[in-house]
Amino acid sequence: MSEMYTCEICGKPTPNFKPWTCGPIAGKLGRSWCDDCEEKFEREHAWENEQWHQEEITCPWCGYVDIDSWEFEGEYDDKYECPRCEKPFILERVVDITYTSKRRIEDMPEGWEGE
Ligand SMILES: [Zn+2]
Ligand SMILES: [Zn+2]
Repeated sequence: MSEMYTCEICGKPTPNFKPWTCGPIAGKLGRSWCDDCEEKFEREHAWENEQWHQEEITCPWCGYVDIDSWEFEGEYDDKYECPRCEKPFILERVVDITYTSKRRIEDMPEGWEGE
């Protein structure tokens, strides 16, 4: 009997298991998606034609690059229209967040003289 897994998306049993190439993530060794969900995911992704982290607004329909991107003030717009082909698309403004951390000076041990 071959091993069965549970599809993480729809919960159906599936023999599919794809191990992560870079080791366990959040305690999991890989992902189990049934063929249906896998296909749906790929289809949706191909459909979305996501323009990932472009510096300018790029139309996923015609590829038009809106050089006036800086005029877009909102965070999210699901009815943005391409100025060239006039087709709507979802626009999300991505703001990169970084973290800087340091120890608090008041937690410094007495008599600390450097590492
Ligand atoms: Zn599934
Ligand atoms: Zn367009």
